[in-house]
Amino acid sequence: MKAGMTVNKYPNTIGVHALVWTGQVDADSLGAAARQSKAAGYDLLELSLHDIEEMDFAASRAAFAEAGVEIACSRGLAHDADVSSEDPAIVDRGVGLLVESIEATAAMGGTILTGALYSAFGKAAQPLSAKGRENIVSALRTVAEHAVGFGVTLGLEVCNRYETNVLNTARQAIALADDIDADNIMIHLDSYHMNIEEPNQVRPILEAGDRLGYIHIGENNRGFLGSGIIDFATHFWALQQIGYEGPITFESFSSAIVSKSLSNDLAIWRNLWDDNVQLATLARYFIDNGLVAAATAALR
Ligand code: MN
Repeated sequence: MKAGMTVNKYPNTIGVHALVWTGQVDADSLGAAARQSKAAGYDLLELSLHDIEEMDFAASRAAFAEAGVEIACSRGLAHDADVSSEDPAIVDRGVGLLVESIEATAAMGGTILTGALYSAFGKAAQPLSAKGRENIVSALRTVAEHAVGFGVTLGLEVCNRYETNVLNTARQAIALADDIDADNIMIHLDSYHMNIEEPNQVRPILEAGDRLGYIHIGENNRGFLGSGIIDFATHFWALQQIGYEGPITFESFSSAIVSKSLSNDLAIWRNLWDDNVQLATLARYFIDNGLVAAATAALR
């Protein structure tokens, strides 16, 4: 090929979580976040649906289209609306929250709803019960069927033990996905959670293989990407090995940007950065470098 021609470096869409930019969910704030994402080199904005009742789907969708960014949505469930509960009324409210979230995702033009879709967010007081797991399987099977009609794929994000007692490892996610047995359910891994629960950044990615549908890339303290102790070279290598073509979304949180609901759920108590443009821009370069290095190494 001629020098100077554009090389298609990698197939992934690179995203950034909206809480890098704003804790508000009105259409103006989300539209500004979409424009800032684009300016920092991202093509996807991930929106938390924790404050879903305050969102204007149509106006937000128009703002995302104008900015030229795709969206993905994410959430966890709540203690009174949790499909992993043994209480049928609480399970039903969890299903309701998921149905509402699927419809919101589609209304804003998204095709991915991911996160802790299988349990309340926060430290559990006891292990998941057998009945609770049965309820997850049957609820998510129903919800996945509903999602098909909206063109939405559901992600099972594997989270650390302080956020859920359901899925802490990729192996658990594979087993749950097997039991739910729906074509529009995929596995979502997050380097930050993997760093707490998995043996390394490689094995869970290789195990998930072609069922991996979404990646969160974040540092061990959720601050500047590359400033901590996670071995991202091996993470990107593993993604390259399985031929991962899905989205890779940067997550980072600081007390500088506060969501009244999500910041507390995520235990964001400290200031890890003030300058979100610097944070997001550097992370975008870091992801680019990591993916290019992994792709180049594979040419050997
Ligand atoms: Mn995550």
